[in-house]
Amino acid sequence: MPSQSYAVSPVGHIISPFKQKFAIPRQPNLAEAEGEIHLNEDFKDLSAFKGIEGFSHLWLLFVFHQTQPRGWKPLVKAPRLGGNATLGVFASRSTHRPNSIGLSVVKNEGVEFRNKRPVLKVSGVDLLCDTPIIDIKPYLPYADSISEATDPLAQYADIPTRSVVFARQVTEQLSAPDSPFSSKLPALIESVLQQDPRPAYRQQNENDSKIYKVRLYNADVSWQVSAGAVIVSELVRCDE
Ligand code: SAM
Repeated sequence: MPSQSYAVSPVGHIISPFKQKFAIPRQPNLAEAEGEIHLNEDFKDLSAFKGIEGFSHLWLLFVFHQTQPRGWKPLVKAPRLGGNATLGVFASRSTHRPNSIGLSVVKNEGVEFRNKRPVLKVSGVDLLCDTPIIDIKPYLPYADSISEATDPLAQYADIPTRSVVFARQVTEQLSAPDSPFSSKLPALIESVLQQDPRPAYRQQNENDSKIYKVRLYNADVSWQVSAGAVIVSELVRCDE
């Protein structure tokens, strides 16, 4: 039986607004998150992207580099089942898997040539900043979109949509003329936090006294759930 190893090396890495794993949506296209794929020196030839503009969506193949050192197990906990029930690793999209390879379909926002290297802009990403990208392929609707596909966990796929309320001082920080925060931050905070990224066992708690923090772009965002809504209480600039 073939058991040879094959060397794979990244073509580049993604710059995304997600600076930590916590609160990254569990699949792509669930949040308004933009990313830029910066190509390595060996892939600076723009002709490698010839024709890509015709494809609205792309597959990204990448390495779950942050969880890779922890290896894998045959059974994994399924977040969609509340975090306790298990599934086989090959029946899941867990980050803890042999070869640590992830795949995400994202929107193609175009290629730019910057500092003598191609930069591929994408949106709808679910990748941690600096994730190594090992390949990029076009999404082919005629082959990749399967109308009769089934998912036994589809009934658990509902994503919470809590209202997100910005405290007054946060709104003022975001709208200040000299705001150090990205103009894309408010929409990202809203689309990420409305999904209630708390651990499954706390998601039923409509009045949670715990204050959570998530780092998005250059902001440490503090929030909590009160009367069923997500209240964004503080933004602190962090130096990346
Ligand atoms: N769409 C991909 C797939 O199906 O292979 C990823 C699905 S995985 C369930 C999504 C989670 O991967 C995110 O919520 C985030 O916590 C985690 N993640 C994203 N980038 C990662 C990285 N570079 N290393 C480890 N975990 C990462």
